[in-house]
Amino acid sequence: MATFDFAVVGGGPAGLAAAALLARGGAGVLLVDAARARGPRAGEFIHPSVRSFVHRLALLPERWEEAHLPVHGFVNGWASAISQETDFIFHPNGYALALDRRRFEGQLLEAAVGCRADTRMGWIARAIEPCSDEQWRITLGNGEDVRHCEARYLLLATGRQSFHPRVNFRRRRYDRLAFLAVHIPRVSKDNRPFIECFENGWVYVTPVPSDASVIYVFFDARMGPPCRRTVGSLRQTLACCDRLSTLFSDVSGDRNEDVKWFAGTAHSGLATPTAGKNWCLLGDVAESRDPLSASGMYSALQDASRVSERLLRDDFTTTAREDMDASRQQSFAEYLKMREGYYAAETRWSDLPFWVDKGGSMVEASAIPALG
Ligand SMILES: Cc1cc2nc3c(=O)[nH]c(=O)nc-3n(C[C@H](O)[C@H](O)[C@H](O)COP(=O)(O)OP(=O)(O)OC[C@H]3O[C@@H](n4cnc5c(N)ncnc54)[C@H](O)[C@@H]3O)c2cc1C
Repeated sequence: MATFDFAVVGGGPAGLAAAALLARGGAGVLLVDAARARGPRAGEFIHPSVRSFVHRLALLPERWEEAHLPVHGFVNGWASAISQETDFIFHPNGYALALDRRRFEGQLLEAAVGCRADTRMGWIARAIEPCSDEQWRITLGNGEDVRHCEARYLLLATGRQSFHPRVNFRRRRYDRLAFLAVHIPRVSKDNRPFIECFENGWVYVTPVPSDASVIYVFFDARMGPPCRRTVGSLRQTLACCDRLSTLFSDVSGDRNEDVKWFAGTAHSGLATPTAGKNWCLLGDVAESRDPLSASGMYSALQDASRVSERLLRDDFTTTAREDMDASRQQSFAEYLKMREGYYAAETRWSDLPFWVDKGGSMVEASAIPALG
């Protein structure tokens, strides 16, 4: 049976970056990800300062950005019929990027493989259990085949929906935000992402490379999707969104085979604790925030960098872990307050359920459990 220093389960940005950084530091790393082929994914927006952070990680080739789309501004129609426009021209780090998510993951995977991480893409970690005080046993499956391996240390980077009964943490959800998204051919020349609100939620529209846009409709999962999966139904539901209606005026119905629908959860959640003696959580499984904050990619990469650095120095002490959790809890509580204020600022439909419930909020920020 293969034995590794580190097993990284989950090959999104958090897991891929951690695997590459640990392997670059000379450790024996296993990286496992369930997805063999990926459908459309969130075309994430990354801020100019996050672009610089990716450069500083020095994992990707110098020209990695060319696979993605430069974005020079952002249009925010939250809480007002008059949009606010942000231009990155004066930002010290220059422009932002609309990521091609699949290519970004491909680039990080190449980095991990280049640093000699052992990768199992298309394999699901079916069971993860401690087999002694010092070792984890992981059962992997890919449909036909089952394999076992062992690792001294476990890094879980399995995203915001994951559930791991044998690892000792609790993960709490703070709202019921969900999304329905459609990937359509891009028609507008203006490639700035934008946000608009409507009666039952809000919309985020972002360009993605290869001349397409993704329209995300966020809603309260308890109320169900606000429209059917047709462009006609989407157009009708979002008729009050001026900017989106202009974009729609050039989209030719549903016949185009490039129109692809997908859906998922977008809830805010926090795990406690996020690390133990021989395990830790990275990225969304540790902490997930509302896509409105556009901070998920940065947190995922920052977690990977911070944790791998400490693990390579063998310096992830109990105190360091507790400090990390305490500061995560504090910043998450501040974030929840900010989120609540942001949703409360949208008053045009303040008597309708989505806005009354502030995007499906379930608890007050003060209800976050204290550590210890
Ligand atoms: C609609 C939406 C829009 C967003 N927009 C933005 C944005 O504009 N900017 C931004 O910065 N962030 C954005 N985010 C957040 C961002 O996408 C996430 O924060 C980021 O993807 C987290 O990365 P991760 O690696 O932690 O998890 P994920 O990307 O979710 O990756 C988890 C991986 O784990 C794998 N996995 C799960 N279980 C197993 C298992 N048992 N065995 C093997 N593999 C497993 C999955 O296949 C997956 O590849 C958005 C999120 C959503 C939902």
